[in-house]
Amino acid sequence: MIEVSGLVKRHGALEVLRGIDLTVGRGEVAVVVGPSGSGKSTFLRCLNGLERFQAGTVVVDGLTLDSSAADRRREDVLRQIRTRVGMVFQSFNLFPHRTVLENVTEGPIHVLRRDRAEAEARAVALLSRVGLGEKLRCRPMQLSGGQQQRVAIARALAMEPRAILFDEPTSALDPRMTAEVLSVMTDLARDGQTMIVVTHAMSFARRVADVVHVFDHGLIVESGPPDRVLENPREEATRRFLSETL
Ligand code: ATP
Ligand code: MG
Repeated sequence: MIEVSGLVKRHGALEVLRGIDLTVGRGEVAVVVGPSGSGKSTFLRCLNGLERFQAGTVVVDGLTLDSSAADRRREDVLRQIRTRVGMVFQSFNLFPHRTVLENVTEGPIHVLRRDRAEAEARAVALLSRVGLGEKLRCRPMQLSGGQQQRVAIARALAMEPRAILFDEPTSALDPRMTAEVLSVMTDLARDGQTMIVVTHAMSFARRVADVVHVFDHGLIVESGPPDRVLENPREEATRRFLSETL
């Protein structure tokens, strides 16, 4: 589903990603952990074309992005990748002046060209699924952070994405709201949604991840099943990160 090889990203002289190889199969959940500045967000942004890279390839659902693609072709591939890969950010990024329902129907109507009634019916179903069936007419401001993040997840799902990338979706939330959001994400994983999740929520990683990847200074230093990587890390960098997190 997602295949990354030799991914290199530089900002000037700073090499932010130094050759990342990572594969996520259909229906798998990959959790990415690592210290601040290790390149986790940059990595996700390269995957859905929000960020250019200098070497390597990214293949998403059969669509190939590489550093050398000519601009016209690249724009075409990017457009397709962005409709197939959802993204959920730390800061929710909802449209502030639109209702909850409008936030979720916007993409299906304007990008997927779905009929409005059909898009609304589906949005209502998705919002009920994330526990917000009562909030359809609210504005984002009238919701708690956890509720806003669940709207963001419903909005991503409304695009029928092949994969969803989460960048620290709960780090702006208090523990109760974090639990609500992680519970929605756990249900998605159980339903077979392919996801890559950057998170510090280690209990979620333990319960839900198929594979945990540890980033350090732009490299993956260790990958494996959560039990092995989190309980019995082989690398010094992993031990250091875990001792600072737990
Ligand atoms: P955090 O856990 O704090 O979110 P991260 O692992 O997501 O960190 P990134 O945001 O990917 O880290 O940043 C990786 C490195 O790239 C950092 O050293 C950062 O300063 C640098 N960086 C990111 N964006 C830019 C930019 N636009 N210009 C220059 N350097 C950048
Ligand atoms: Mg980040």
